[in-house]
Amino acid sequence: KVVTRFAPSPTGFLHIGGARTALFNWLYARHTGGRMLLRIEDTDRERSTDAAVEAIIEGLDWLGLKADEPAVSQFERAARHRAVAQELLAAGKAYLCFATPAELEEMREKAKAEKRPPRYDGRWRDRDPSEAPAGVKPVIRLKAPREGETVVHDQVQGDVRFPNRDLDDFVLLRSDGTPTYMHAVVVDDHDMGVTHIIRGDDHLTNAGRQTLIYQAMGWDVPHMAHIPLIHGEDGAKLSKRHGALGVEAYRAMGYLPEALLNYLARLGWSHGDDEVMSIAQMVEWFDVTDVNKGAARFDFAKLNALNGLYIRATADATLVDMLMAERDHLPNGAILRAAPDDAVRDVLGRAMAGLKDRAKTLVELVDMAGFYFAQRPLAFDDKAAAILAEGGRDIIAKVLPALTRSARWEHDALEEVVRQSAEEHGLKLGKVAQPLRAALTGRSTSPGVFDVMAVLGREEALARLTDQAK
Ligand code: GLU
Repeated sequence: KVVTRFAPSPTGFLHIGGARTALFNWLYARHTGGRMLLRIEDTDRERSTDAAVEAIIEGLDWLGLKADEPAVSQFERAARHRAVAQELLAAGKAYLCFATPAELEEMREKAKAEKRPPRYDGRWRDRDPSEAPAGVKPVIRLKAPREGETVVHDQVQGDVRFPNRDLDDFVLLRSDGTPTYMHAVVVDDHDMGVTHIIRGDDHLTNAGRQTLIYQAMGWDVPHMAHIPLIHGEDGAKLSKRHGALGVEAYRAMGYLPEALLNYLARLGWSHGDDEVMSIAQMVEWFDVTDVNKGAARFDFAKLNALNGLYIRATADATLVDMLMAERDHLPNGAILRAAPDDAVRDVLGRAMAGLKDRAKTLVELVDMAGFYFAQRPLAFDDKAAAILAEGGRDIIAKVLPALTRSARWEHDALEEVVRQSAEEHGLKLGKVAQPLRAALTGRSTSPGVFDVMAVLGREEALARLTDQAK
């Protein structure tokens, strides 16, 4: 049975790259009928926060990427990490190292001068602890092989070879008894029964070192898949400007979780030319061995287009529910509290068909719906104000009496009334629609003006027009 895991460090939000890693782990577990576990890598007590743990779990919930078991705290497993390090020590696969900070610094300086990566030189590898200097608390280092090579059989990168002389005797347990990341990850993945490690390829060199720990313990090495990182549109490493934001920022920007998942899935993986994929299809089609080696590029324009597509494909009533549920996460969501919920729902429901065609995000949807909930006297944007100032008010005054007399207040009837009235005054329908729109919405663009009138209702629409008919 496949067991995958997502192992974020709670030092910040669940960022977008982490969300994609979680998605691939989740998809692979679903695809194979296995399980995905969640491990919070909170051993770094200084940098880990409860708020970050909550943000990660909330972000995963929002995306629908729930783990199959309660989250495991790495910090709480510290005793087990120590025990394994001791076991390796007792078996002669690890040793105590009493090198002083000054000695380590010297090694680093030397490496720098010789322009090579810093490596511990193994000075305590064969020394007896009885020679230890007074007052130095030892660390435990792995006695790594010095000859040969370590091969990571990676399901995405292929076989990756590390000459063992490049993998030094790294630290398993610090002098204060806390495990290093390298050590804790291996012990946890083993104990949790993880069969597939799917994570960012920034961990590829760690995979070489971690393999040595598995071998020293005589444990099976899980399958590994190091997925390419997400880059910005310009190919550079993902920065904030490119979209390297927390998942909650995407939620606040008004993306639908399904659209974001669909977009993320295709960053580094694809299924033929399919751009739009349901979760069920992704589960059916995803295989970690199909993930590309090359870096994926994050492109907001593509995400927006996809999100717009999802919005249009979503039923009006569902979008109304979504907006109401999400309003506290959206920067302009307070608009949807301008009236009692039932009234807001009613207006949104009737307006949705006219709104959703052009909205790429929920934020745009709320923004476009905003004028429905505005109080009189309306505020006008510059263009709308200009339309009204430049003859628009006269035109409204001309068609207002006919509208006021209209027996029926729905789209087709209103269009007919305005058309006739425009004709009587020798005006083109388009000439009349612009000022009506400005007066009704305060804007120069909006859904169809007869839709707007119908949704606003007779009383409110006539009041807004009367305000301007001077
Ligand atoms: N905690 C690590 C990180 O956030 C991931 C470790 C792993 O997946 O092995 O980058």
